[in-house]
Amino acid sequence: MKLKFCSLYSGSSGNCQYIKTKNATILVDAGLSGKKIQQEIANIGEDPNKIDAIFITHEHVDHIKGAGIMSRRLDVPIFANKKTWEAMAPFIGNIKSHNIKILDEYAEIGDLTISPFDICHDASDPVGYNIFYENKKVSLVTDTGCINEGIKKSIINSDLLLVESNHDEDMVLIGPYPWPLKKRVLGKFGHMSNDTAGDLISKVVKKGTEIVLLAHLSKENNFPQLAYKTVENILGENSIDVNPGICLDMTYRDKASKVYEI
Ligand SMILES: [Zn+2]
Ligand SMILES: [Zn+2]
Repeated sequence: MKLKFCSLYSGSSGNCQYIKTKNATILVDAGLSGKKIQQEIANIGEDPNKIDAIFITHEHVDHIKGAGIMSRRLDVPIFANKKTWEAMAPFIGNIKSHNIKILDEYAEIGDLTISPFDICHDASDPVGYNIFYENKKVSLVTDTGCINEGIKKSIINSDLLLVESNHDEDMVLIGPYPWPLKKRVLGKFGHMSNDTAGDLISKVVKKGTEIVLLAHLSKENNFPQLAYKTVENILGENSIDVNPGICLDMTYRDKASKVYEI
């Protein structure tokens, strides 16, 4: 069986990525209500009551809002590193002790191996994730204001890559945000721009990379078409063909993406 991937939601109003294989079903982040997450899982034709684990990238509410509810309702473990657990614990309610999992280097859930890597964001100890299945690799990197060698090295040669394409820098500068918030979004511990996403993708895709998804788009400072075109142009400048070539596609703040199989 192939690995199924679907971005159920992505953006500052909530993030939740769904991954399913023969022996494992996991969520990365659960940043909407449990009801919404389960509805969307049902909408893509999967069993909303079958989740084996939830992995958290960082404690911001758009990544944890439904985690506690889902854990209690389905008796599911939540994996996060120690500092993230400390930061999110007051906000997700009581979690049964057997569902509190401190994640260090990696975790194995059924036929999946999940390993975190460090990113740059204004949270306690934020991470992206690599997910390995048979000979396939899925990499998820959002909510990072900088790209360093560690991140590049972690996500290189993925078969499916989900990358933040949060904002257009000019739109942030001329847009409605107050200056401190503009500084945060554009800063080293903020979010990744369309241009940075394009540069990063062009450096880490390999010949076999099948799917690249743009994620965590800002509502105020981006448009899906602008993000897509900016990244497509940068890939073109680097002689990387898109559709046909790698499959470049979008994720959405208010609905699920397509379901991809690798
Ligand atoms: Zn976020
Ligand atoms: Zn965040």
